[in-house]
Amino acid sequence: MSAPVFQSFGPGAVLGIIGGGQLARMIALAASDLGIRSHIFAPEPENPAFDVAAAYTVGAYEDEAALARFAEAVDLVTYEFENVPAATAAFLSQRKPLHPGARALAVTQDRLSEKAFVADLGLAVAPFRAVDSLADLEAAVAALGRPSVLKTRRFGYDGKGQVKILPGTDLDEAYRAIGQAPAVLEGFVTFSREVSVVAARGSDGSFAAFDLCENEHRDHILAFTRIPAKVTAGTEADAIEAARQIGEALGYVGVFAVEMFVVGEGAGESVVVNEIAPRVHNSGHWTSEGAETSQFHQHVRAVCGFPLGSARRRGRVEMENLVGDAALRWRDLLAEPGAHLHLYGKREARAGRKMGHVTRVSPEQA
Ligand code: AMP
Repeated sequence: MSAPVFQSFGPGAVLGIIGGGQLARMIALAASDLGIRSHIFAPEPENPAFDVAAAYTVGAYEDEAALARFAEAVDLVTYEFENVPAATAAFLSQRKPLHPGARALAVTQDRLSEKAFVADLGLAVAPFRAVDSLADLEAAVAALGRPSVLKTRRFGYDGKGQVKILPGTDLDEAYRAIGQAPAVLEGFVTFSREVSVVAARGSDGSFAAFDLCENEHRDHILAFTRIPAKVTAGTEADAIEAARQIGEALGYVGVFAVEMFVVGEGAGESVVVNEIAPRVHNSGHWTSEGAETSQFHQHVRAVCGFPLGSARRRGRVEMENLVGDAALRWRDLLAEPGAHLHLYGKREARAGRKMGHVTRVSPEQA
């Protein structure tokens, strides 16, 4: 079987989405605005996205019979998370167009290949070394110094699979803490801000970036995104150009995010790329009310081969994540003029669980 070539779809098409969390839910909602029906494939019996989709399949990512039926029922496939197993992506992409493609997944699923890929483009990344043994870790720490950050190559998110190597840290313990998994050691970046570019690339090579987002984390989880980011115009332009180059080099189709650190000051300010997310991203949630096209609509437009929409910002924007019990404030937030509440329909508000978010858009200051 040869992989299908890129096709453009029209309203009425069925979009298959791998993963059933809040990102899939918001993609499905946007798709419905454009006359596209969504079919979710996810292993869990309950999912935020099931509530808003035309159809769903509960199946394991390894269940080829279920995947084949899913592929049969949809016109094209996208996904909400970067850890779609390579075999699942390959299986589906042989049957229906898969966007973003397998290369974007392969590069970004592994921190080592991701860092090497970004560095090869001539973009700044933290210095890094591969770590496959305690001896590698000792050599890497000798080379990069302390503090530094040990991260698993795969399956890390929201600070999981990560240990900071401080002056007193025992390296054997640190390596055990990440399960002695294949890892990278990164030099510590002394940054002033964390920012991200959320952008879309169309199948025709068109590119549209939202304004640079400034991100504040609490306990390793995104707490606030604010736009505009407090950086120079030159830094913002460089950050967006870096994202454009990444999208181009990946032959990317869809929305993606590039997380970056801002280092230096004034004329010496610049960005260091930390991570690429081959999907819609939490730091792009503000676009639902804060930009002329939301990241979710933009993603559906891109993967369906529609023209990209305007990414123009509508004012100063703040997005606040509602993590765990914070979502219990829903009534107050509904009563707050100008606050736009989004709840994900999750039944249980566990600590650290993203339950919803709220955006606030205010007029640009003169
Ligand atoms: P990550 O999982 O790579 O997104 O990292 C989670 C968070 O850890 C980032 O948002 C930073 O706050 C911090 N961090 C990660 N890598 C580094 C680094 N090389 N230097 C300094 N801080 C880092």
